[in-house]
Amino acid sequence: MINSKLPNTGVTIFTKMSGMAKKYEALNLSQGFPDFEGSSELHALVGRYIQEGNNQYAPMQGALTLRQAIADKTKKLYGVDYNVENEITVTAGATQAIFTAITACISKDDEVIVFGPAYDCYEPAIQLCGGITKFINLEAPDYKLPLDKLVGQISHRTKMLIINSPHNPTGAVLTHEDMLQLQTILKDTNIIVISDEVYEHIIFDGANHRSIVSYPELAKRAFVISSFGKTYHITGWKIGYCIAPRTLRKEFQKVHQFNVFSCNHPVQLALAEFMQKEDEYTGLLAMYQKKRDVFIKGLHGSKFKFVPTTGTYFQLLDYSQIDSIPDIEMAEKLVKDYGIAAIPISVFYKNPPEEDRMLRFCFAKGEETLLRACEILKSI
Ligand code: PMP
Ligand code: GLN
Repeated sequence: MINSKLPNTGVTIFTKMSGMAKKYEALNLSQGFPDFEGSSELHALVGRYIQEGNNQYAPMQGALTLRQAIADKTKKLYGVDYNVENEITVTAGATQAIFTAITACISKDDEVIVFGPAYDCYEPAIQLCGGITKFINLEAPDYKLPLDKLVGQISHRTKMLIINSPHNPTGAVLTHEDMLQLQTILKDTNIIVISDEVYEHIIFDGANHRSIVSYPELAKRAFVISSFGKTYHITGWKIGYCIAPRTLRKEFQKVHQFNVFSCNHPVQLALAEFMQKEDEYTGLLAMYQKKRDVFIKGLHGSKFKFVPTTGTYFQLLDYSQIDSIPDIEMAEKLVKDYGIAAIPISVFYKNPPEEDRMLRFCFAKGEETLLRACEILKSI
């Protein structure tokens, strides 16, 4: 029989909460996905590329036109050149890119530093490689990177560090100063960094996304990962990319070619063409800023406490003035008794802070849904 390699892993919280939302016919603000459609032009482009016969394997590293569009965007937004031939790989979403980068680098007993709460796919991948995850907790309410604690956790076994900005689930954003300090801390080490930047275009109140590509000491050791799912409202297409210097990319590719080989070809060609419309990604920020503002304005007068999120399409709400039960119970109660689904954030920690009473709500929803959600939340 199988000796489980992930004995303590069940189904993800996203599967659980979306399942409950369906069962109880609740408003689903749990799993992060938009309830509106992306561009019909993009949809039509995929159809066109299928009709034109682009239905066989894409090149292993991704369609050249898409790699070129990714390189052009990276140059335009962050001023950095990446080589289309050997520094960019198109992946089946950010999840596969993260899994592939971890698998390519982590061996038994290597340590990986992860900040909790952390997106749920990091730790299982590390565990499957026999690595050891060293969690450092971020602290409410601002969830700032605890750089002093980071220094204390680095050892000769530290192989990798994973950062995520804008951050899921807290919405925290790394600043230029954070990145400079991180650069100083890692400068004389061989630590590899995964920089999960899937929400790079969803950032609020005039803040700037500080991509790791802009910090040379960090960029030379970094796998930079993004997802078209977030940017173009197509989470179901599972398509993203990884950019990394060629030595890292070489190892990434060795794994990539055997865990997926290549990704959906017509979708890649359509995205390459659609990426020429810069407004489609630069305009994302204004669209989501509006949604965030509708949501937090609508919560005025509720018993939930919160700090407005600075990035991502998630808002944390603190329910400590309403109830003292643990967040998993609270999330279940909200679905069953109030018809609204959220994500408990304790599941994203190794050692969740006992005093926190926090739930994550996704506001990538139509205005009517957001207003209905606010009415429900105000009634609690
Ligand atoms: N990283 C973070 C922080 C995420 O929130 C997500 C999920 N949306 C992913 C990675 C995975 O992205 P994808 O759906 O493209 O695999
Ligand atoms: N990234 C999405 C979220 O944070 C969920 C993705 C998934 O269901 N695995 O809600």
